[in-house]
Amino acid sequence: MKKIVLTALYLFPILLFSQTDTDFEQYLKQRNALMSADSALYFDAKVKLSKSEEALNQLMRSEQKQLLDHYKNTHFFPPARDFYQSKKHIEGTKIFQVLQQMPKGGILHLHQLAMGDAQWVVEKAMATPEMHVYWKESNDTYVKGQMRAYSSGDAPEGFRPVGELKAEVPSFPTQLYRLITFDEGIDRDSVDIWYEFEAIFQRIYSFVSYRPIFPEYLNRGLDILAQDGIQHVELRMPFRNRMYDLEHPDGGLPVQEFAQTLERALHRQREKDPAFTMKVIHTNLRFKSNAMIWEDIQSAVSMKKRYPDWLKGYDLVAEEDNGEATLFHAKTFLRLDSLEKERKVNLPLYLHDGESDWASIANLYDAILLGTRRIGHGFNLFRFPNLIEQVKRNNICIEVNPLSNQILGYLRDLRIHPAGTYLRRGVDCTISSDDPLIFDYQGLSYDFWSVYMAWELDLAALKQLCRNSLEHAALSEEEKTEALAAWEEKWNQFVEQTIANW
Ligand SMILES: [Zn+2]
Repeated sequence: MKKIVLTALYLFPILLFSQTDTDFEQYLKQRNALMSADSALYFDAKVKLSKSEEALNQLMRSEQKQLLDHYKNTHFFPPARDFYQSKKHIEGTKIFQVLQQMPKGGILHLHQLAMGDAQWVVEKAMATPEMHVYWKESNDTYVKGQMRAYSSGDAPEGFRPVGELKAEVPSFPTQLYRLITFDEGIDRDSVDIWYEFEAIFQRIYSFVSYRPIFPEYLNRGLDILAQDGIQHVELRMPFRNRMYDLEHPDGGLPVQEFAQTLERALHRQREKDPAFTMKVIHTNLRFKSNAMIWEDIQSAVSMKKRYPDWLKGYDLVAEEDNGEATLFHAKTFLRLDSLEKERKVNLPLYLHDGESDWASIANLYDAILLGTRRIGHGFNLFRFPNLIEQVKRNNICIEVNPLSNQILGYLRDLRIHPAGTYLRRGVDCTISSDDPLIFDYQGLSYDFWSVYMAWELDLAALKQLCRNSLEHAALSEEEKTEALAAWEEKWNQFVEQTIANW
């Protein structure tokens, strides 16, 4: 009884208020003003859509609303669930088909070792008789499914030629495919998932770096990206020749060959799209010693001097929750400053940092202090309020990898992915796919679909995300201007064609 009286007392002024139309109008005005004050802060606040863009936006928004209503009615929202349960469904939606056609600009966060197509990898392995696969239970040295080319009789115990395995195990290609990709079976803590993730890198490393295969692998990976509307690719990889062949099983091939392979792959793409560009960000592993990283930085600086158009920056990769902190390497990075002056060369940092759920993983402080140009992931940036402001002030772009974060177990529901909030706080972000080969999908459209739905974006946001990927690319000012002009032309064509074919 007491409760009812109290409730009535609380409601009384509200009821009185809502009975007065003018008061309510005033209330709505205040509400709208609050909303406008927020949207003025959004990362895409300055985007003004043309008439055609607005028309396309309306078509897409209506399609998006229908899908969202459907998901709400069926209590199944794909971006909040396991990606693999919905992959086929996503492909069948009109929004996905539109996004596949969308000129996306650049992909700024992509590991060369996992950029391609797992099906192609398996087929190519089957067609390469000297390729051997370790087909015993994993141990401290090898993992089951690990591939490497050997001359007949040279393979270590446990490695068997693909032809032999194919004849003996009818499902061998399928089993191999499953060993190099994730599927719905991945539903564990991020630390466990990383364990499996690193095993897959071990399986494919010596397949990708086999001299007769690497150029084809690269071409196949770039074809996939170009078909998905990507015109600029930045590969995270060590800038050295990691290739080996049967005559040079330990590698040691000159770096020129590696650079020529990149050059040929670029040339091949430019024949199809003259605006296509490709750059490399040299990577090493964050768990290595200070001495090893210093040696590697010195070598990267030399490579940068030799190949300034190719090598654009430096990064350390691998699991943050289990690797060395960025602070551990800070002294080494500080030495890079004087080395740059001495060698008259600039090797900017593009650091992977903040790929963690933990508030105590504070690597982003170091990334920002060390002057990183962009941040790979920046997932836990939301935990550091002052750093968000620093990121904005220093015009640092966050390379967001939505599906990677979900698949690697950092969060389940993409609606609450922190980058949705970064965009609303005016932080520049781009969308990338990180390791799509292992995640068993190709291109960037799945990631765009997921954030378009999960963050309820519109065409202005999509446009700004694509534009960011070129504005924050590791391109010279001249290259950037050309890239943006080419992209803008493609974008306008995309808008007109999509409306015409709707
Ligand atoms: Zn990465």
